[in-house]
Amino acid sequence: MTLIDIETGLPELEFAVTKNLAAKSPAERAELLRDPAFGTAFTDHMVDICWSVGGGWHRPRVQPYGPLSLDPAAAVLHYGQEIFEGIKAYRHQDGSIHTFRPRQNGLRLQRSARRLALPELPVDYFIQSLKALISVDGDWVPDGADQSLYLRPFMFAKEAFLGVRPANKVGYYVIASPVGAYFKGGAKPVSIWLSEDYARAGKGGTGAAKTGGNYAASLLPQAEAYEQGCDQVVFLDQDRNVEELGGMNIVFVMKDGTLVTPQSDSILEGVTRDSLLQLAVDRGHKVVGRDVSIDEWRTGVDSGDIVEVFACGTAAVVAPIGVLKGRDFFQEQPVGPLALSLREELTDIQYGRVADRHDWLVRLDG
Ligand SMILES: *Cc1c(COP(=O)(O)O)cnc(C)c1O
Repeated sequence: MTLIDIETGLPELEFAVTKNLAAKSPAERAELLRDPAFGTAFTDHMVDICWSVGGGWHRPRVQPYGPLSLDPAAAVLHYGQEIFEGIKAYRHQDGSIHTFRPRQNGLRLQRSARRLALPELPVDYFIQSLKALISVDGDWVPDGADQSLYLRPFMFAKEAFLGVRPANKVGYYVIASPVGAYFKGGAKPVSIWLSEDYARAGKGGTGAAKTGGNYAASLLPQAEAYEQGCDQVVFLDQDRNVEELGGMNIVFVMKDGTLVTPQSDSILEGVTRDSLLQLAVDRGHKVVGRDVSIDEWRTGVDSGDIVEVFACGTAAVVAPIGVLKGRDFFQEQPVGPLALSLREELTDIQYGRVADRHDWLVRLDG
């Protein structure tokens, strides 16, 4: 029997489950969960849903994790029609498994899809796909400090053709990887390289979509950052306003306690940033979205108007910025208490250690 969701009118997806006969043993899994490096180990299963112009979303499956078979002419390999998401599953003290604001990620996947001319997965299907994977791979959600199961939903054009138009056949998948703290050394301040030769996005481009192409464009400047001895790279727009890091948003804390963050249609709007800013508002801070030029950043730090700068995203949560380096300058950044205190409050909510007063958590198991 197909259940119909009363609110959305969508039939509930019925995932066909094929168990992985070569699944890791509990001992092998325990070893992989002990100290996982980011994105290197994967769970035993993955979700796979097909989409076609005529058939819509169909064939929802949970199947053994493993290589995909792709036609060499698959459009994604040539024109990069691809989008993804990043969201975590957290184990609470009582063993239950929760994720954080999945509706926001589902809606963002739809916005990314629109920009990349891909089909929009209904948000309820997005959440059902996470639950379907957890129902078979729930044992992979670690319970150590700062550990979680990183879920990676993604969608790409798999139609085999070399003409340039949106593909008529698309695949949506979810894979999962147990993770610990993103930056080795915990929440130690990171150093940032100011990229002046390269941009990650442009006006009217794909900067607001979570798509592989933006990351491809960030790899060379990121390599330049490493050469300069820096951990991460920060990008400017054509008017020399600060955009964001390769995969994290940026927030400035002003002397009067106001939090300022760049707002433009070339920035990927992070759920982490939105949540941290909400927690700051709850504490009585003022929050402003506006342009911040690189000159305002540098002079603001010199004058003491800017008292903290931090980066944020699901993978690393919060990373205080300790150094900004450019072609002809090196500037130490003031490190204050707010970034780490907001980080603690956010992770306390995510791991169920304090009340979830905004109803941000959604249970994935049971
Ligand atoms: C995913 C991402 C972020 C952070 O978004 P969260 O929802 O907080 O994880 C920031 N910038 C870019 C470019 C991203 O891809």
